Amino acid sequence: MKLKKVDADQTKGKRVLARVDFNVPIKNGRIGDDGRIVSHLEMIEALSGAGGRLTLVSHLGRPKGKTPELSLKPAAARLEELVKKPVAFVHDCIGDEVNAAISSLKDGDILLLENVRFYPEEEKNDPQFAKALALPHEMFVMDAFSAAHRAHASTRGVAEYLPSFAGPLMCREVEILSAVRDDPRRPFALILGGAKVSDKIGVIENMLSKVDVLIIGGGMAFTFLAAQDLNIGRSLCEPDKIGFAKEMLKSAKDKGVKLFLPVDVAVANEASESAKRQIVPIDRIPDDQMGLDIGPESIKLFCQALTGIKTVLWNGPMGVFELPSFKDGTEAIAKKLSELTADGALTVVGGGDTAAAVKAAGYERAVSHVSTGGGATLEFMEGKLLPGIEPLLEK
Ligand code: AMP
Repeated sequence: MKLKKVDADQTKGKRVLARVDFNVPIKNGRIGDDGRIVSHLEMIEALSGAGGRLTLVSHLGRPKGKTPELSLKPAAARLEELVKKPVAFVHDCIGDEVNAAISSLKDGDILLLENVRFYPEEEKNDPQFAKALALPHEMFVMDAFSAAHRAHASTRGVAEYLPSFAGPLMCREVEILSAVRDDPRRPFALILGGAKVSDKIGVIENMLSKVDVLIIGGGMAFTFLAAQDLNIGRSLCEPDKIGFAKEMLKSAKDKGVKLFLPVDVAVANEASESAKRQIVPIDRIPDDQMGLDIGPESIKLFCQALTGIKTVLWNGPMGVFELPSFKDGTEAIAKKLSELTADGALTVVGGGDTAAAVKAAGYERAVSHVSTGGGATLEFMEGKLLPGIEPLLEK
């Protein structure tokens, strides 16, 4: 998949609309983790440095209409500190005030628009709205890989009206994820976890014939364990996905994929720090308990299965890592990936929660790539051509 990468030099003096993902946690006007803003700095600094007149557009959260707490204004202030130059902000995305702000931009200036989801037309990919957003500009740069699975006005619609190019973050994501999906160095392992099987069905279906090793942990493992008629107590389970899990267990066997499920778990009667935690073998989960992390034997088994692996894709934590009592499994996998990376393996972590867990454990820089995408990474791995990527393809 070859993308039309933006050439910063071609943006000099041009009014450029750039889609970023500034969907950062903001509480009482203060930004928590600014990683998403930082991820676009390469694009912003290159284009602004080359003399492009930059308008940035992003969503923040899921507002129902104009919600002051979901204003992007604090992101403009944070960006200003990061790029060490003024960043203008307008409380709208289209209309006279916005057009005037865009007209007054000089070479290298940066303007951030208000949360694009304040307009319901955004998620409907309304053509009139997309046109109004696009028209004051001369070109479009899509850098928000994490929003590329959505056919919205600012991710897809505007590309109908402007010559469209991929930003550097978008290019890096597509390059690395394509390498993993289409041409992995073997042996290749896929590690899945997190809460839901249903989110990952497409990925399992597409990747099962490509992987050598499949490791399933986290809450989703219990649906697979239930499919093997094990008693899972009150652990997370999707009964309507047990049939799918059975099929996948059989299919993995038929394809010669080595499939690993937890052999022991940390259980408690509720997901809380104060609950009493104990480790039990997988066939001894008490009826009133729920599995909240993989146990030490599972960690050993999974780490052994990963030894010698040359490509790893990991999506979904091994347990409720947000609680210190149930983060061991997730941390152990992050550590193992860092060791594989040091040995030359390509290790890719995808998904907002998994990325946060790897970061919290201090291994963010010790793996090859932490994808900025959650849903986008999963859909990319399903083999879909994402709507926000399609207009960027080199024909
Ligand atoms: P997902 O978005 O599907 O990747 O799910 C991430 C969430 O799964 C995290 O918030 C974890 O707390 C949760 N999770 C992981 N393991 C378990 C488990 N055994 N039981 C309940 N929730 C879990």
